[in-house]
Amino acid sequence: MSQSLLSLSSLPVPETHKSNAALKPTSETLGNDLYSFKTPFELKQIHAHIIKTNTSPSLLSLSLVASVCAFTPSFPYARKLIQISGKPENVVWNSCLKDFAESDRPIDAIRLFCRLCEYDVCLDAFTFSFLLKACTKISDGFDGRIVHGFIEKLGLQSNLFLQNSMVHLYAVSGETSDALQLFDKMSQRDIVTWNIMITQLVKKGKVDDAYELFDNMPERNVRSWTSMIMGFVQCGKPKAAIDLFTQMEEQKLHPNEVTVVAVLAACADIGALDLGRRIHDFSNESGFRTNIRISNTLIDMYIKCGCLDSARSVFNEMEQRTIVSWSAMIQGLAINGNGEEALNLFQEMIHLRIKPNGVTFIGLLHACSHMGMVKEGQRFFASMTKDYGIVPRIEHYGCMVDLLSRAGLLKKAREFITNMPIKPNGVVWGAFLGGCRVHKNIEMAEEAIEHLLELDPLNDGYYVVLSNIYAEAKRWEDAARVRKLMREKGVKKTPGSSSITIDGVTHEFVAGDEAHDQNKEIHQRWEKLLQEMKLRGYVPDTSVVLLDVEESEKVRFLFRHSEKLAVVFGLINTADGTPIRIMKNLRVCEDCHEALKIISEIVDREIVVRDRSRFHCFKNGMCSCKNYW
Ligand code: ZN
Ligand code: ZN
Repeated sequence: MSQSLLSLSSLPVPETHKSNAALKPTSETLGNDLYSFKTPFELKQIHAHIIKTNTSPSLLSLSLVASVCAFTPSFPYARKLIQISGKPENVVWNSCLKDFAESDRPIDAIRLFCRLCEYDVCLDAFTFSFLLKACTKISDGFDGRIVHGFIEKLGLQSNLFLQNSMVHLYAVSGETSDALQLFDKMSQRDIVTWNIMITQLVKKGKVDDAYELFDNMPERNVRSWTSMIMGFVQCGKPKAAIDLFTQMEEQKLHPNEVTVVAVLAACADIGALDLGRRIHDFSNESGFRTNIRISNTLIDMYIKCGCLDSARSVFNEMEQRTIVSWSAMIQGLAINGNGEEALNLFQEMIHLRIKPNGVTFIGLLHACSHMGMVKEGQRFFASMTKDYGIVPRIEHYGCMVDLLSRAGLLKKAREFITNMPIKPNGVVWGAFLGGCRVHKNIEMAEEAIEHLLELDPLNDGYYVVLSNIYAEAKRWEDAARVRKLMREKGVKKTPGSSSITIDGVTHEFVAGDEAHDQNKEIHQRWEKLLQEMKLRGYVPDTSVVLLDVEESEKVRFLFRHSEKLAVVFGLINTADGTPIRIMKNLRVCEDCHEALKIISEIVDREIVVRDRSRFHCFKNGMCSCKNYW
């Protein structure tokens, strides 16, 4: 159906062209006009001029011809223009389809595809690659099977690129089983195919399925490893993520920026400071220093490992900071007992006209809470909605209850909880309970516990706290009643366990552990420490031992608490002056808290314990939590 110049001249020229002098192109302006028409009408005017001045029509921008006429009745006219230009028609339409697919209106690509079908324009593999791209972008509720059907009908189903795109489309539109079915049926797959499937399964939270594929991959690249590491981090398996990263390093693969972020997040979760530091060095050597996400993750990692100074230096070295960086730093300072510095940093941030977000306010409220600045905290709480339009979330309410309870304003805290527009959760009641415990209000503590047990009936931690409160008030019968209640409800005490990492090896201690290689040494060192501790006023607090046994037996249990074992192990196996970092699965008990304070003074070392809810930084006989946790 080739067209000659003759038939081009015979195309209708709109009458209006001659009458509209203003639009009439001159030979100087025509060059620009060939690329600047916005409607089929303008196109036809230019076309008329081309004919009149004997200019070559191939100078017209054909992709513009296609896009301007795509959805108008001038579609056949555009086709003719394209055909006479001599360029293959599907190349022009495909490029138009590509532009639509990449635009912020990918639906136009699908509309154009429908027109191409309607007018029998020749379709090829490129057509479908761009169409699939558009479909993926609007995956929501889109049925990929329609496109799949077309591809099969045109015999393009063996095209690996299209197959990969189809697998991707099925997976992102939530049709995981279709994606897997197609994946299984494919006679050949490349690394891209596997990576698509793994990445999408990870995104859907099906990490075990993803790992099964990963395990069976004939060949893996950095992307495959990174997706899998990210998957483990997201589903709360940081240890598996780190193990995988170690294997990846053994394969001599070079981690990319995404890998670095994922591994750092895993380090933050389990407090793997040594690896975190090594990744930090690697990241600097690899020129990732300007990557804001990496810097933000580093700040988070250092804070979660209790290394405030390192977090601060990452923050200070950042050339560009986002609100995430500021909020992380403010929060980090606040929870590590540097409230004043946190507030100063906030002032600096406001001065730089950076708008705070919800997380920033959590940090500010924590800071006020730790410093007992009730008025200031209330002012921040009001300001977040009034000045910044941020609706307080449950975390903010939790902070406010913490602020009031900590300051001993228990009635006000109780009133605040009653007036909350959202249902209080465990964190809110937990904060209230903390205040009741410190300020020795048994009645209100009982109320808090009642709510907490309703929310989480099998959490042994609450029973322990309640029993402690009774024991402290010398209400032994009540303490015994709590133990009975625990038995009746079938609450099993989670065994406490603490871990410490030395030279890249993690050592785990369970409460009562006697099986460790260095058990004898630990025991001897503890006895020696104990003598000195007693001289400094340490008295074992056996009220935390919820067992019906002799007092001497209770003391024996108490001295075998996992964090004590881990700390003593750390003292034996690290050089003088080195900080000791412990991770504990449960809340640190009152007795260990007191013991670690005294030990930090005796051995003149910093002891950082991250328990289930927060950080304790013991130094010179004091703790950063100010005895409130
Ligand atoms: Zn303990
Ligand atoms: Zn503490």
